[in-house]
Amino acid sequence: MRYSFISSLLGAATAVRSGSCVGLPADIAPTKGASCACNTLSHTFKDVIFPNNSSYTTQVADKYWDVRANLSPACIFLPSSADEVSKAISIFGSCNAQFAVRGGGHMNYPGSNNIDGGVLLALEKLNEIQVHKNTVDVGPGLTWYDLYSALEPHGRVAIGGRLKTIGIPGLTLIGGFHYFNNKYGYAMDNVVSYDIVLGNGTQVKATKTHHADLFWALKGGANNYGVVTKFTLRTFDIPRISTTIQVYNESGIPDFLTAVCDMTLLDEIDPIAAGMVATVQYNVSTRTTSASLLGVQEGISKPPSQFANFSAIPAMTRMNNVTTMKQWATNLDSPKQMFRVMFSHKTMKPDPDILISIYQAWKDAVNEISDVKGLYPTFVTNVASAGAARVALKNGIGNVWGLEASPHILWQFSTGWALAQDDLRIKAWSQQLAEKLHAINVEKGIASEFVYMGDAGEWQNPYAGFPKENVARMREIRSSYDQQGIFTRLNWGGFKLGL
Ligand SMILES: Cc1cc2nc3c(=O)[nH]c(=O)nc-3n(C[C@H](O)[C@H](O)[C@H](O)COP(=O)(O)OP(=O)(O)OC[C@H]3O[C@@H](n4cnc5c(N)ncnc54)[C@H](O)[C@@H]3O)c2cc1C
Repeated sequence: MRYSFISSLLGAATAVRSGSCVGLPADIAPTKGASCACNTLSHTFKDVIFPNNSSYTTQVADKYWDVRANLSPACIFLPSSADEVSKAISIFGSCNAQFAVRGGGHMNYPGSNNIDGGVLLALEKLNEIQVHKNTVDVGPGLTWYDLYSALEPHGRVAIGGRLKTIGIPGLTLIGGFHYFNNKYGYAMDNVVSYDIVLGNGTQVKATKTHHADLFWALKGGANNYGVVTKFTLRTFDIPRISTTIQVYNESGIPDFLTAVCDMTLLDEIDPIAAGMVATVQYNVSTRTTSASLLGVQEGISKPPSQFANFSAIPAMTRMNNVTTMKQWATNLDSPKQMFRVMFSHKTMKPDPDILISIYQAWKDAVNEISDVKGLYPTFVTNVASAGAARVALKNGIGNVWGLEASPHILWQFSTGWALAQDDLRIKAWSQQLAEKLHAINVEKGIASEFVYMGDAGEWQNPYAGFPKENVARMREIRSSYDQQGIFTRLNWGGFKLGL
């Protein structure tokens, strides 16, 4: 029961996993650079996997969330230490080999974390955790569930992913929406140091006082600067959390979206950390919608007080509980390989009437593509509160987003489908709909150009929404730390800063 609720929330309920539909291209020839790198790696290290190895398919398909991300690298290297990452990056440079880097494998579009014919650097063996009094050192091979589990005996929580199997590195490098952003800021705001391998193979530790420019650029700057081999994250004394799961039928959705706007506006002097996953699902067979809330608040007040506006809406399901972050995350799986997925997202100031009209336009538009096989459309909202932005404005470091302390709603179409033949159709549908609705918001003066990499489609350019001076500074820092352009020329997947 619990699985089916959560999986339907994530859009997995209707998709059928099939080993034969992983969509791997058959004969991808390795490039010259990749042949050189794979040969050198295999003569130097033992953990190099080639297409004829039994574990190859697990590596190139099962470890990815989106079926579209399954590609065919010439070889896969699983480094066991930062020194091995350093050696590998030097080999990629000297062989001029294209490569991709994979952490938790959740970024969903092809080429963001995998590669045809190049080398895949898979970080899963960099999986050490060391818990300190107020911080934790964590390797990029781990998931947020691994980390919440390690912190639970200490009664502490880090600011990271809201679902179980999202990887630590990808989320932390792009920003990081967690339930507690309103009080503690984003995941990136809570990184105390990054151990990073640069394009020339050297290893540096970036902190507030050491390589401070790189430290700033890594706060939201994604994979433009190197491979992070260790994050030191701040932790907080939150032994117990209060949670609520609520499900509403179609008639409750206007109130639900209004409550999402109310949540964005919550901005107290002494805030209680609270946040949510708020999603509307479209059932293709019945052509009806339902909405669900996964709400979490620090402390033990039951029901969680910050969700009173949601609790006032008549619900089909309402479950309140007091638990730990680990226990809560235990049930929040985001199963891999369920379907192909297209994201499209835009940002706006909180306005219930307009948010409801966007939902209605999306619902009408879904009917136009209801013949698509395996269609699973969801309308997702994320809250970027004033309090969350204020953390970076006040900590003397900042981050590359440069957001002002004002409330915003990130709205997203997350659309699942089954067959490759529908890829272009779904992309065009999703992109055009998002752009059309955003243009209306621009006219009304309530649009923001901020785009979060974690919610964006591959057709979007998140850097266009950052302050121009931040992008210029990011490029300068990239030039000084990666003079050969290894993370621009040879590692091109993910959201790249551009030239
Ligand atoms: C089901 C689902 C739920 C999500 N929930 C949330 C959420 O609650 N909050 C949120 O903020 N986001 C969320 N996201 C978005 C998520 O944060 C991003 O997809 C993120 O990139 C995932 O990190 P990963 O390590 O799993 O990704 P990967 O796909 O492994 O990596 C993402 C990118 O980072 C690069 N990279 C990975 N490791 C490193 C490293 N060590 N050094 C340098 N570059 C590296 C990769 O090359 C790739 O380009 C969600 C996504 C999905 C699909």
